[in-house]
Amino acid sequence: MSASVKTTCPYCGVGCGIIATPKPDGFLAIEGDPDHPANFGRLCSKGSALGETVSLDGRLLQPHVHGKPATWDSALREVASRFAKTIEEHGPDSVAFYVSGQLLTEDYYVANKLMKGFIGSGNIDTNSRLCMASSVAGHKRAFGSDTVPGCYEDLEEADLVVLVGSNLAWCHPVIYQRLVAAKKARPQMRVVVVDPRETATCDIADLHLAVAPDGDTALFNGLLAHLVESGLINKDYIETHTNGFDEAVEQAIDSTHDLPEATGLPAQQLAQFYKLFSENERTVTVYSQGVNQSSGGTDKVNAIINCHLATGRIGKPGMGPFSITGQPNAMGGREVGGLANMLAAHMNIEDECHRELVRDFWKAPGVTTKQGLKAVDMFDAVADGRIKAIWIMATNPAVSMPNASHVEAAIAACPFVVVSDVVNETDTVRHAHVKLPSLAWGEKSGTVTNSERRISRQRKVLSAPGLAKADWWQLAQVAQRMGFEGFDYNNAAEIFREHAALSEFQNDGTRDFDIGGVKDISDSAYQSLSPFQWPLRFSEKSQVRMFANGGFFTPDHKARFIAVTVPARRHIEGLLLNTGRIRDHWHTMTRTGLSPRNSSHISEPFCELHPVEALKHGINEADLVRISSLRGSVVVRAHVSARHRAGSVFLPMHWNDQWASHARVDELVEAHCDPVSGQPSLKDGLVTVRQERFSAYGFMVSHERPLTHELDYWALAKCEGGWRLEFALREGSEWAFQRGADTTYQDASTGDLRSLWFQDRALQRMVFLSSSPVAASRSWAAEQLLISHNEPAKRFMLAAGRPPLDQPDKGAVVCSCFGVGANEISQLASNGCSSIAQIGKACGAGTNCGSCQSEISQIISGVIHEELVVAAE
Ligand code: SF4
Repeated sequence: MSASVKTTCPYCGVGCGIIATPKPDGFLAIEGDPDHPANFGRLCSKGSALGETVSLDGRLLQPHVHGKPATWDSALREVASRFAKTIEEHGPDSVAFYVSGQLLTEDYYVANKLMKGFIGSGNIDTNSRLCMASSVAGHKRAFGSDTVPGCYEDLEEADLVVLVGSNLAWCHPVIYQRLVAAKKARPQMRVVVVDPRETATCDIADLHLAVAPDGDTALFNGLLAHLVESGLINKDYIETHTNGFDEAVEQAIDSTHDLPEATGLPAQQLAQFYKLFSENERTVTVYSQGVNQSSGGTDKVNAIINCHLATGRIGKPGMGPFSITGQPNAMGGREVGGLANMLAAHMNIEDECHRELVRDFWKAPGVTTKQGLKAVDMFDAVADGRIKAIWIMATNPAVSMPNASHVEAAIAACPFVVVSDVVNETDTVRHAHVKLPSLAWGEKSGTVTNSERRISRQRKVLSAPGLAKADWWQLAQVAQRMGFEGFDYNNAAEIFREHAALSEFQNDGTRDFDIGGVKDISDSAYQSLSPFQWPLRFSEKSQVRMFANGGFFTPDHKARFIAVTVPARRHIEGLLLNTGRIRDHWHTMTRTGLSPRNSSHISEPFCELHPVEALKHGINEADLVRISSLRGSVVVRAHVSARHRAGSVFLPMHWNDQWASHARVDELVEAHCDPVSGQPSLKDGLVTVRQERFSAYGFMVSHERPLTHELDYWALAKCEGGWRLEFALREGSEWAFQRGADTTYQDASTGDLRSLWFQDRALQRMVFLSSSPVAASRSWAAEQLLISHNEPAKRFMLAAGRPPLDQPDKGAVVCSCFGVGANEISQLASNGCSSIAQIGKACGAGTNCGSCQSEISQIISGVIHEELVVAAE
């Protein structure tokens, strides 16, 4: 094996340290970095499976111009000349960059410098707009700066952790694991989960508040009113370090006359929560997309921050509001001004002094004087022709933007589209006039910032394949070809030094973001840079927490309470659409879709529907259902679950046209934005649901990637040894699936068909076809692709679709690290394993990354519950 490299996980905002070691087969061995302060060696199922995602399958390895392979020089000249011509003819606001929290800070820095400083437009926005713009806006309103005041340790040191709109167990699993360990060490710690769904995170909750959608503003306004009425506020902190308290309280009291109605929560639960908050000074409130992705997201953030300011619980160990970001480098993007409404280094576009400072530092011809278009407005401008040239980097807006079909149509009709990506075929790349091959994780070098303001190195482990190049290099080359000076960078370290120097330039403590302490870092010191938290001012230490003693970045250095209005509770006809992530997939699956392990947990798009809704609409478990809004529709598998609120339906956000026939969830979502942050609301669309009938339902495992174009419904996933495919056919559809089969078996009573193909002893393909959803054991069927089938006489037994009686059926995979299924865990629980630790000892499940522990716990509880019911009978 080659030398190991310390780097950072490219998925969520936890920002875990990883040790990656190249293997002789070209893949990577992955371990958690025991020295990294974000994870201390832990990894979740996504991070652990990273080594499986580095194959060159489907990679874009050469520039393409208008569909033809091209040299870098000709591609860059085409981009530079088309952008220059568009600007010359239509002005700087006729072009745009749409970038990504997947970019490294150095890439982001050059993109922002080129657009805001040299092209002279604010039209650079990022997919982070979809994930945390409301937190940024809330921070800036309250603190005068986009500052996360605390650190991860605060969650471990708190006596009360309130998780609002955050399925930490699945979306930020390592922080969840740290919380679980802390609660185990100090059982008196209390955890409250505020979420309309009973998610996996509720497994450690002492109290789950299944709040009505958007009822959280009322919940926290009510808490502020309660704190005041009970005399539990910190008068000293309020008087010395804040403004606007009286107005905020007046508004809170006014808006919370009927809290059970406004929140959808019983009075007794509200009282229980308010008592817990009142009694525990060491309280951290963690919030994520359930708060941010709302048309009132910024108000929700400020309603939470108000409660922390009122109690002075901020910036001290175990205390503070804590926004946790979705993306690996959302914070880095914020630091360099990757959002259309921010300048570089946390400076403000509207501030003339800031603009002058940046112009002088960059020696830029004309720094933009106004904010650019935020993501939703940007693609509207593409659609109506105001933007005529767009460069999209490291993101897939044709899937991930709300009203995705409208966005895809806008991109398709745009006169000039450049896409920098690692993947040759995505729903967005297919519309590019110029495709530029970028470096993937593992090949890139630079820095990222996690949710606790910690900057870490992402280091190159693998050599650049084909002609792929760093995004910063692509941008700098185009800038030079457009005739701009100040872009002659030789490496990422040079860009980092410039970024650090700008953060310190004329700062003197007036701005929160300052990493002047590393502005003179040498190339070799940059290479070995250890993770550190900002601010890191020259000749000072990193500041771990902020604002315990005030010192806010407002003109009077005081924080601002924000008077927050509670939106009227919506009582709707139909279903509310809630969207989110699943445990083992990430964004639009361009990376996790490559990993069999990541697909073994959930391999098909689904919806979660309450039993009451299922009954009302005549839907059974595993039916295919069509979910429609005014914008479009998807077809997914139904999962009936009482863990979801009646009156709403949950859909995961990941699937797209590369992996399923009709599952782009953001096609359903209207582009309603928070008026302050411009962040789209992705959790309150109105939809209908109905059963989607097909004449035949199928399941296939195949060594070769199956063709899907003749299928009316399909969902594809990778498995060890090949592919698995769910599909369905309509009446009259032609699909000659039996052609060339070695064995075909038809059940005389049901008409179900099973066909098998072999090459020598190896199973090549196995297809099940039925008039109702196929009941075969999926994980067992996939395993048959890996097994030698030596006895021809026994091969027909595979047609049963499940293991023989003397072999257990492990069921759906729960622990993807060890491939342990739900049936195996149930069996162990029935045999007396009554804790996660005992299950782990017996079969390994839950002992590696720990991401499946909450599901193991649910299975154990289910078995115990069943046994109690049987005993009572
Ligand atoms: Fe990666 Fe998981 Fe850590 Fe997030 S929690 S950074 S996905 S290993």
